[in-house]
This record gives sequence, C-alpha cells and structure tokens, in this order.
Amino acid sequence: MRDFNYIKKTDPEAYVILKNEYYRQGNHLEMIASENLASESVMEAAGSYHILKYAEGYAADHKFGKAGRYYAGCEHIDEAEELAIKRVCELFKCKYANVQPHSGAQANTAVQFALCKPGDRIMGMSLNSGGHLTHGAKPTFSGKYFDIRQYEVDPDTYLINYDKLENEIINFKPRLFIAGASAYPREIQFQRIREAIDKSNEELLEDIKQHYEVYQSMIEENGLDYIKNRYENEKCYFMVDMAHIAGLVAVGLQNDPLPYADVVTSTTHKTLKGPRGGIILTNNEELAAKIDKAVFPGIQGGPLENMILAKAVAFGEALKPEFAEYQNQVKKNAFMLAETLKACGVKLVSDGTDNHLVLIDLRNTDMTGLELEETLAKVGIIANKNAIPFDTQNKKTTSGLRIGTPAVTARGLTETEMIIIGNVIGHLIYRNTTIEDAKEQIDEIIKKFPLDKALKI
Ligand code: PLP
Repeated sequence: MRDFNYIKKTDPEAYVILKNEYYRQGNHLEMIASENLASESVMEAAGSYHILKYAEGYAADHKFGKAGRYYAGCEHIDEAEELAIKRVCELFKCKYANVQPHSGAQANTAVQFALCKPGDRIMGMSLNSGGHLTHGAKPTFSGKYFDIRQYEVDPDTYLINYDKLENEIINFKPRLFIAGASAYPREIQFQRIREAIDKSNEELLEDIKQHYEVYQSMIEENGLDYIKNRYENEKCYFMVDMAHIAGLVAVGLQNDPLPYADVVTSTTHKTLKGPRGGIILTNNEELAAKIDKAVFPGIQGGPLENMILAKAVAFGEALKPEFAEYQNQVKKNAFMLAETLKACGVKLVSDGTDNHLVLIDLRNTDMTGLELEETLAKVGIIANKNAIPFDTQNKKTTSGLRIGTPAVTARGLTETEMIIIGNVIGHLIYRNTTIEDAKEQIDEIIKKFPLDKALKI
C-alpha cells in the first residue's frame, strides 16, 4: 500500500476509510464482472496534478479544430488528451475518438443526444436479458426521453435470436439501435445486426420514395432533396456499447463491433483495465463532429483531465503484448469457472460463456441471487446478484448471480484457482459445505496472490 502521508496527517478520518477499503480489496477475491485492477501507473495518473486543470473544449488542433479550449494553460492537457485519442484509435483501429465522457453512462447519453431528438425511437436490450440501464430502461434518461422498445433473448436458448430481432427492427424502425450488454455471456454477432439494420434502412428508403411519388404535388422540395433529407433524418444508426468486452475486443478475443457499428461506446474500467471513465469511437467524420458537440457542451462541462491522462496510460498498457496474454487468461478462467460450476450441477444462463463472465441461474435451487451474493461475501468472494432472463424474482432479490474473471486474473489467478472457486460456489449453492470450510479455501488463494503485487505491473 502507498503511504498516503498527507491524508494520514491532515484527515485521519478519511485515511481510515481509505485504508479499510484497501484492506477490503486485498482480503477478498473481486469477482464483480464489471470491475478490474488498474495498475499503479494508471492510479498515479488519476491522482496527478491534471486533476486541478479546467479545460472545457477540445485542443485547438483536435480533428475538427472546433474553438480550442475555453481556458489558457492547456498545452499539456492537450498533449495528454491527444495521446489518449491516438492510443485508443490505434488499439481499436478506428479514426475518431472522444475520451472525455466521465463514465459509460455519459458516453451512451452523449450518443443518444448527438443522434436522436426527444421522442425518437430507440431499441435496446432489456435489463433482464442482460442490457444496461442506459439502453432504454424506464427509470433512466434514455427510458424517459425516447420512445423505447426493449428486445429480449430467446426464451429457449437465452441467446439473441437474430432473425426475430431483424423483424423487430424492421417493424419498429428505430432511429438508434443499441447492441451490447452488462450480463450476456455469449458473443454478439454485430455483423448480423448490421445486416438487419441495413435491410430496415433499405425498406425505409423505399417507403420514403413511394410516399414522394404519391404526394409529390403537395411536397415543396424537389424529389431528391425530399428523399435524401427524410432518409437522413429517419435512418437507423447502429450503436454498440462494448463496455464489458472492450479489453477482449482490443486483442481479438470477441467480435469487433467497429467494422459494423456507426458508433461504439465503452467504459475504460472493466475488461479494459483502466481508470473509471467512458469513450466514444467512430469511423464516421460527420458523426464524430456531432459526438464531440454532444459531449461538450451538450452534456458535460470540464473534462476530468486526470482521468484522461490515466486513460492514456491504460491504453498504452493495452497496446503491449502482455495485455493480450492477460485477456486470454481472463477468457480461459471464465471458461474453467463455468465448466466447474456445471460439473457441480449448477445451471448457467446459456449453458456457459464465451467471454469474461458467467451468469448463474438459481431457479432450480432454494437459493436466491441475494442470498448467494451475501454467502459468497462471507467466504471472501465479491460478486453481484443479477436478474436473469425472464426472472420472476424482484430486482433486489433476483434468481441469478453474475460472476466475472477480469480482476482475479489481474491478481494472477489461473484455471487451478478457478476449479477451487467453482467447487466452493457449487457446494455453497447446494449447501454441501460450511462457510468456515469455504472461507478457509478462499483465504488460502487470497494469501497466495497478494493485491500489492498485482497492481505493480
Ligand atoms: N454500459 C454497460 C454495458 C455497462 O455494463 C455499464 C456499467 O456497468 C455502463 C454502460 C455504465 O458505465 P458507468 O457505470 O461508467 O456509467
């Protein structure tokens, strides 16, 4: 643990909280699928002098040269932001990036603000099927300001049924279609969704042409302008929120959405292993300009420049060969965890995983997601209760538990430990072991893989 000498002296109350959180992290196995360990370098950048600087706007030589910064003294802030942009574009092989979103939710909101008007139709995956709140859930900005249609996974396979989805897209004709998820253990076929959206857009264009033919005497614009303007205003954009899988995508271990999506958003702190934050990527210059305006001044003020420096450091780490090895292990660990749980008789949503997370279906047991979350915490494993598709329990109880491998893999755990962890969880679910026995096994792993060592990569 770092010394934290200043806070120790000036604010002992805050220091105790900080120290306790550090020990909590060290004394548990962090298996929340959306969390990870960022390196000490990333954390140093996040706590750097950049935290002090106001820098609304973009660098003067930013791709669109829009206005520059609203404050003087931004020369090094500009360098950090452009470094983050350069590195993330190299990492995901894309042309444009906005690295200012404070979080994943802000990134998604900015895209919705950039591409849609209030009341426009948006389609996203429901929470229970694995989607994120910002993909149109009722209590959120997206759910309140847009006309939302939520799609579900197939009730038999718990996978996205792409043929059914295509029909839903064609019937609903959304302005924005959102793919990506927080709790979907399988690969998403972005190419197949692009085909469905293209079909829907072709149909839209035909409808507009026919409308013009029927009503041309009443339409003032000439045919081409009318058709082009209406199409541009109504066509469906494809956004992929790859927050969960970004690290895997970066090294080719999950389908890459960038060749197919108009816009891709992500968080930087999940599999990507960076600081908390968001990013927006695109290859479309016109959309990039709209997105920059939507982030600032649209929905945010001064960027968190310390976090942007930390993002640059994390993207630099992600470009190194070790990052691919790490992601490979993340996936191997998730697979082994899934196989071990299945061997214990535990039911998994979609019967396994292709990525970094496993979703346990507890409906054939006498345990709820809440009880399992609390039981695991007692033995030293931190994971979260999670709704599963077609869950009949309420959101605070749930019939599922989501468990992921990014953070424990960063700590050094491999398949050997996944077998122990999977068996511990399986036995706890079926009440074949005691908390004490289970804790002893987990404590042994915790001692063998100290947190401090993992942070210093
Ligand atoms: N998108 C997805 C798919 C997520 O899983 C999450 C968070 O868990 C977010 C967006 C939101 O990210 P943040 O918590 O940084 O706002």
